Amino acid sequence: MSAPENAAPAGAPPAGKPPEGKPPEGKPPEKKPPAPSTVGDLLKGSDIKVGGKYIGWSVREEVRKEGGSGGLVTSVLAGALDKGLVEHVVVLKKSSQYEAVPVLTSNVEDVYASAGSMHMLISNPTKYLRQFQNDATIALAVKPCDMRGIREQHKRNMIDLDKIFTIGLNCGGTMMPYKIRKVTEEVYGVNPDDVRAEEIEKGKLILETVDGEHHAESIDELEEEDNGRRENCRYCVVKIATNSDLACGNWGVMPDYAGKGTFVEVMTEKGAEFLKNAIDGGYAEVKEASEPAAEARGKVNGIMLKMSAKTKEEIFVPLHSQTFDDFKKELVNCIGCGACKTVCPPCACGTEAKCTAFNDPADSYDISLFHMIRFLHLMDSCVGCGQCSDVCPADIPLARLYRKFANPLQDELNYVTGMDDRTPPFFEIKLEEVH
Ligand SMILES: Cc1cc2nc3c(=O)[nH]c(=O)nc-3n(C[C@H](O)[C@H](O)[C@H](O)COP(=O)(O)OP(=O)(O)OC[C@H]3O[C@@H](n4cnc5c(N)ncnc54)[C@H](O)[C@@H]3O)c2cc1C
Ligand code: SF4
Ligand code: SF4
Ligand code: SF4
Repeated sequence: MSAPENAAPAGAPPAGKPPEGKPPEGKPPEKKPPAPSTVGDLLKGSDIKVGGKYIGWSVREEVRKEGGSGGLVTSVLAGALDKGLVEHVVVLKKSSQYEAVPVLTSNVEDVYASAGSMHMLISNPTKYLRQFQNDATIALAVKPCDMRGIREQHKRNMIDLDKIFTIGLNCGGTMMPYKIRKVTEEVYGVNPDDVRAEEIEKGKLILETVDGEHHAESIDELEEEDNGRRENCRYCVVKIATNSDLACGNWGVMPDYAGKGTFVEVMTEKGAEFLKNAIDGGYAEVKEASEPAAEARGKVNGIMLKMSAKTKEEIFVPLHSQTFDDFKKELVNCIGCGACKTVCPPCACGTEAKCTAFNDPADSYDISLFHMIRFLHLMDSCVGCGQCSDVCPADIPLARLYRKFANPLQDELNYVTGMDDRTPPFFEIKLEEVH
């Protein structure tokens, strides 16, 4: 789920805020024609450049219809598989409107069938990839935090970036499936199983039911009642996946292409190659993004990041006074299942990990070395995805605890985990410097 995903792209303020720049009293508001999304004609593959910004869509009608915004991502993935640029694609296999599992496929029809945005899905492709990585070439769509996990694994020699191709999806946030089911029933007054599609437009979460009706609620109002995005998403610091090969999303798509095109920025040579392949292979069409479109994308991203910074302060400043006893209290209900470690995207250790090796089951968990080691170990690698909190059966707000340790180190060093290939700070410490 994302706050202003389809916000009026000219950088509309978030829902609930008055528009800036009111016309002077007595004068009718000036009517400006809306800025166009694109300039020029359809591009050829040879026009595509690293750093280029484009608006694109699928040539297949059914993919345009099912796709999150025009089906470009699906078509690039399908073209890559069809033309042998990769052996497999990770697709999402839906089990309901709210849930899906990642599946590896070599069948291009599976790729077409997985078009669409699942705003309630936190699928953890990082850990999934590790099972296959290095045996095959794989393409997949990722959220920014997914890609951050993949890059952190790459730094620890666990995932070979040369073998994967990633399309990053902008991400304003996700929502837990159980929560959206509850909200659908209690706030929207709709049976969750009757929902056939969800969309985010102008700060509203819109549910479409099987009878074709649309039901809309303001995301800000949902979040006031803690019925909105996961806590981590509300202070997440990367909303555009510029750490992937192609960074895609609908921010910057102006009204003329709203819902019909995806804004794509080419981040790497590999990204350029895969987009060219999709164009020249007849899978996708692309035009140059106009300057206002690119500006609008940057502006909405800026608004989202400001909102994140504010939320981060609201959550973490009060925690400055937290003591060791407070930590122990938070952890007292831990049952030692280890799920928080298993799910953690940047955690590169196997079963012989330090946190488990030094942990003695005779310790009570609230002071176990398992947690203490993990808090320290994750300081320079936590990507803030929040999945540890999501899976904890004891409902411990783990991500807050990890971030309480990670924020000062990462902020001080201006080190945004998973955004580049910089050596993790702890790897750079040399023993002679410590003495
Ligand atoms: C959780 C989420 C939040 C988003 N928030 C924003 C936003 O705030 N602003 C914005 O500009 N754009 C956002 N997007 C991106 C946007 O919705 C479209 O995905 C993007 O514009 C590409 O559209 P498309 O039609 O080309 O993609 P499609 O052709 O529909 O392809 C999308 C691909 O992503 C896969 N996918 C769907 N859901 C997920 C998921 N949860 N995790 C990983 N892969 C997934 C699909 O299986 C498919 O392969 C978000 C997407 C997601 C999934
Ligand atoms: S942590 Fe960031 S990238 Fe990940 S789901 Fe939340 S908002 Fe999206
Ligand atoms: S510690 Fe939690 S929030 Fe941090 S990367 Fe691991 S699972 Fe994500
Ligand atoms: S997921 Fe929760 S209960 Fe399980 S080990 Fe981690 S903190 Fe303990």
